[in-house]
Amino acid sequence: MKILYVDQTGKLGGGELALLPWLEHAPKDAAVVLFDDGPFRQLIASIGIPVQVLSLASLKGVRRESGFGKLLSTLPALWNLRTRLARIAMGYDLLYANSQKAFLVSALARRKGQPLVWHLRDILTAEHFSPMMRRVAVTAGNRWATVIVVNSQATADALIASGGRAARIRVVHDGVSPAPFDRVDPATVARLRAEIGAQGKPLIGLFGRLSPWKGQHVLLEALSQIPNVHGVLVGDALFGEEDWVASLRARASQPDLAGRIHFLGFRRDIPELMQAMDIVVHASTSAEPFGLVIVEGMLAGRPVIATRAGGACEIVQEGVSGLLTMPGSVPELRAAIERLLADPGRAQALAAGGRSRAVEAFSVEALVSRIEQVLAEL
Ligand code: UDP
Repeated sequence: MKILYVDQTGKLGGGELALLPWLEHAPKDAAVVLFDDGPFRQLIASIGIPVQVLSLASLKGVRRESGFGKLLSTLPALWNLRTRLARIAMGYDLLYANSQKAFLVSALARRKGQPLVWHLRDILTAEHFSPMMRRVAVTAGNRWATVIVVNSQATADALIASGGRAARIRVVHDGVSPAPFDRVDPATVARLRAEIGAQGKPLIGLFGRLSPWKGQHVLLEALSQIPNVHGVLVGDALFGEEDWVASLRARASQPDLAGRIHFLGFRRDIPELMQAMDIVVHASTSAEPFGLVIVEGMLAGRPVIATRAGGACEIVQEGVSGLLTMPGSVPELRAAIERLLADPGRAQALAAGGRSRAVEAFSVEALVSRIEQVLAEL
């Protein structure tokens, strides 16, 4: 089956990184179309899959919170993109859209009867999306998606609550390979710890793009109350959150945190950096659709603290493979960090439980087999 994958961005967001392990196993005839250039294109090309960019600057202005007027203003450019994509799509048996904009354009571009899979990786709630964007997504999904693959039950539930048809939805958890985590050289980990420069103090790492709902501020407030412990923020603003980064930096320079918060920017050495941490924290203040960083922290063999909402609850078995705290709660996060630092035996047991959980439940093999099942249905 010849599959054309479509994604709206060339940036390395979680949705793009989550597609890569599947693309590595995708049928040989696959190709990818992106609406924007970036490092994602290079990674796809490096695994031998043809990839082309159909750039469309004016679509970038359409955001999750956009209203009807904004959407309307982009219609001529959208139609032009649709026509270019339709020409490419002719040569394929199936279209596989890996993001919302990609799905909407693919729905307009596909030929009659051509199956269209929508891989939805967002929780469609009012916290994340304007009512108009939700309505457009759900209506289009019900009408045009042959199947909607979602990355967690939480994503499925939010879609159904917004009016999505349950019969069309297939839950496929993301999968992460343990191999890069198993290859980490202890000397590299020691070097990274030295570079961060915390002089042997415990390091608490939060990985992911810098964005208000990812909860970096919650970690900073928790750490402001735990002296002698350092925080490491790995990631950067990906979708225009520069003001947020500035506010985090300003908070981190205040006397109660000064010198204890390390901003490392966007990095590709995640397995090494995670192993350089004493604890990996996930602090999202609203439901995470899945949470790749949680599985990665587990594979790195580090105790993980995540927030009790969305996909995180499907990954972490509370008290066995990690700890869960209430989203946005500084006292709970602070207490969980203090508990693990004070009890290395417990921290180690949770890390071991997390590692087993990640290997057993979120393997690339399971991901590949589930997507193959879905495609076989078509
Ligand atoms: N990530 C990365 N470099 C960074 C920060 C994050 O490669 O500096 C990766 C991280 O390892 C994970 C992905 O970005 O694979 C984030 O995915 P997640 O599902 O946690 O969140 P999303 O970005 O999809 O909201």
